[in-house]
Amino acid sequence: MSTCLRGAAQVLRPPEDGLPFVRLDRAGAITADPGSVTLDGGVVAGFEADAGAPLQVDASGCAVVPGFVDCHTHLPFAGWRAQEYEQKVTGVPYEEIARRGGGIRASARALAETADDAVLAQARTLAREMLEHGTTTFECKSGYGLSVAGERRALELADRLEHEVEQATTATALLAHAVPDGYDADGWMAEVAGLVPAIARDGLAGALDIYVESIAFSNEHLARMGELAAAHELDLRAHVEQFNANRSVPVALAAGARSVDHLARLHPDDVAPLAAAECAAVLLPGAEVMGAEATPPARELADAGAIGVLATDANPGTSPVVSIPLVVGLAVRRYGWSVREALAACTLNAAWVLRRSAETGSLEVGKRADVLLLDGPVEHVPYRLGHNPVAAVWLAGELLWVRPDQAWRLAS
Ligand SMILES: [Zn+2]
Repeated sequence: MSTCLRGAAQVLRPPEDGLPFVRLDRAGAITADPGSVTLDGGVVAGFEADAGAPLQVDASGCAVVPGFVDCHTHLPFAGWRAQEYEQKVTGVPYEEIARRGGGIRASARALAETADDAVLAQARTLAREMLEHGTTTFECKSGYGLSVAGERRALELADRLEHEVEQATTATALLAHAVPDGYDADGWMAEVAGLVPAIARDGLAGALDIYVESIAFSNEHLARMGELAAAHELDLRAHVEQFNANRSVPVALAAGARSVDHLARLHPDDVAPLAAAECAAVLLPGAEVMGAEATPPARELADAGAIGVLATDANPGTSPVVSIPLVVGLAVRRYGWSVREALAACTLNAAWVLRRSAETGSLEVGKRADVLLLDGPVEHVPYRLGHNPVAAVWLAGELLWVRPDQAWRLAS
């Protein structure tokens, strides 16, 4: 059904059509002028009001923006770890939490003990919450399997989830997350090397991922994961520089990584090479706040022209956060980013990480009509911290959510 969003205060458009991403030193050229948007046939049809469209939306006072893309989540997972969060904030050391059975292993145990249908039910509930906060595309990851069979099961659950949620999804095989019991890191990487060909063959993931940290895997393992990704035509992504500066970014760039994620401890010497590379800097301010982590050199990355990206890192341990608007609010304050920088980072640039930027992530004629109506101007997204600004959500032109207090705007 054709839809016309009429008379918006702002329509967020990229500096030009056809860009795969917007380097953040160009984000100032993103426009947010008054206008209208017409959706037809599942795509953005134009930027003129169409009085003949069967669904007319009064967008007065509103911003119309592309649907958010959350390119770093750990769905599907089982249960939560709220007890552990309380221990963490009250000063119990991580080693002690782990000794009490917490950490990644706790989520691995929960996943192993939870039936497929219950895992998927929790993930569907979260996906619905994400939709109502404007997320129209998201990434799933494995990583709580911690065994060959467990990782494969996690990816198969992600594959099932794709058919059970409204959003478009992708899957990443986080095969090196924690070292499973009974292995050392090298031994587990040998198992990973045996697992990757089947994952690639069966199309269960588009990317490989690894967690590089003193308590997990090393830069040598990152280089090895890069070789595996290249050999099987998968993208390489990496959790790096979260708690310590391990200088993993040069290794990831040499391995051709699509993204490096976290970067709270990014070394100053690595800012310029990362910003110059065709590799996204995925920042996760929800995890930074929840973990009282350092703040990455995000202003420097933006000024140097990085492909800056924001995501929730939604997971039961370090970031039980699914709201992109909240992440935008945290990023703008912590990083000194403009609203345009932050919105580019969770739309087109995030879509590029997932190889989806040709079809979604910006409002352009012919792109999939993944569109949000916000209840105020884009400047309110970071400013009204904690408020959900999403008034209505279209995915491929289909209206999937209208906040009840905004239903008066729709007339057909
Ligand atoms: Zn993560």
